[in-house]
Amino acid sequence: MRRWFAALLIALLPILASAAEPASTSILLVPDRVWTADGDASHVGWVVLVRDGRISAVGPAASVKVPTDAQRIELPGTTLTPGLIDLHSHVLLHPYNETSWNDQVLKEAVPYRVLEAANHARDTLMAGFTALRDLGTEGAGYADVSIRKAIDDGTIIGPRLFIATRAIVATGSYGPGPRGFRDDIDLPTGAQEVSGVDNVIAAVREQAGHGADWIKVYTDYRWGPGGVSQTTFTAAELKALVDAAHVSGRPVSAHASTDAGMRMAIDAGIDSIEHGYGGSVDTFKRMHDRGVAYIPTLTAVESTETYFNHYVPGQSQPTPKMLESQQAFRRAREAGVRIGNGSDVGVFRHGDNARELLWMAKLGMPAPQVLHAATDVAARVLHQESNFGRIAPGLRADLVAFQGDPASDIAATIHPVLVMKDGRVYRRP
Ligand SMILES: [Zn+2]
Repeated sequence: MRRWFAALLIALLPILASAAEPASTSILLVPDRVWTADGDASHVGWVVLVRDGRISAVGPAASVKVPTDAQRIELPGTTLTPGLIDLHSHVLLHPYNETSWNDQVLKEAVPYRVLEAANHARDTLMAGFTALRDLGTEGAGYADVSIRKAIDDGTIIGPRLFIATRAIVATGSYGPGPRGFRDDIDLPTGAQEVSGVDNVIAAVREQAGHGADWIKVYTDYRWGPGGVSQTTFTAAELKALVDAAHVSGRPVSAHASTDAGMRMAIDAGIDSIEHGYGGSVDTFKRMHDRGVAYIPTLTAVESTETYFNHYVPGQSQPTPKMLESQQAFRRAREAGVRIGNGSDVGVFRHGDNARELLWMAKLGMPAPQVLHAATDVAARVLHQESNFGRIAPGLRADLVAFQGDPASDIAATIHPVLVMKDGRVYRRP
């Protein structure tokens, strides 16, 4: 059986290898415009030269010295931008209207979920998203460590992954169960359950040791009396978690939907807040003052309201939950909070990540700001600004070309015509 599998792999190798072109030669990309992320406007008539996986030059065509053996890729009608970044994904989940979250965690075997994740990673990259911060495997243990490795070594294709592994929740606060299930069965958990300062610290170190790039913690969840959203950890537990993570060189992301959960997260020193739907004006001001990034995940709300609350996109009035998330987004903008693009994709279809960009624009964020949120700003949230997020000499060649100009119409981000990661072309006209 094993020999048969090895034979199949060898047979597939040429196919896998041809999925991406070699990065060793120089490539000259010739779009109509280049949006570098250094300003707001696109530059007409600029070109980008890529060599050995990095951007080696960018500027007006006449100013770029092109090696004679460079491969030239014409991209008429397009704008070249840095590869897009989604700061909140779950490659091990698929849309809840296909399979509920409970059923995914309880009934889908981890190997099956990993195979699906490989497809999700490919769809994401092909959609022009060259980096993801993947915030928790939702019951699939440390599977994201292997997915990241498989992408890095070229076994599968996908975006750069920055992973949170299992994520950390307070005992009894997350799912599936114990609420809603009989009390004499052992359920798998959607994240690592801990109680007490020592156990919280141990969980951070375990996850760090297994390969987490970030620590993800839930500072509130729907576990209050009657299932209302309520805070989870004590301030002492949260402080210990953040300290242990920061000592190890890892930032912390907090799931927080309530104002109280956000407050506790901010006061504990976390680095980014996910969702934040119930955030007050004061709390967003505090985020601004403390330099905490905000990840709005507007598309997750639209999706769950569509699946479970009769919302019909393009027809219904926004539901109360959608209005709450939109109010949070506006408050964050008014307070000047650093907003990074993050969609919670996995709740909805992988590869549809650009929906979040359209939402931000629809709620009044100018198109160039939306692009910044998904490129240089997101790279700064990841502490990767010296590696990617802009089009500048020396940075990794993570680049996308879109038909039209996304800096004037963000809807252009739905249709990438060229996708390059690390100087390799994965999609071309
Ligand atoms: Zn999430």
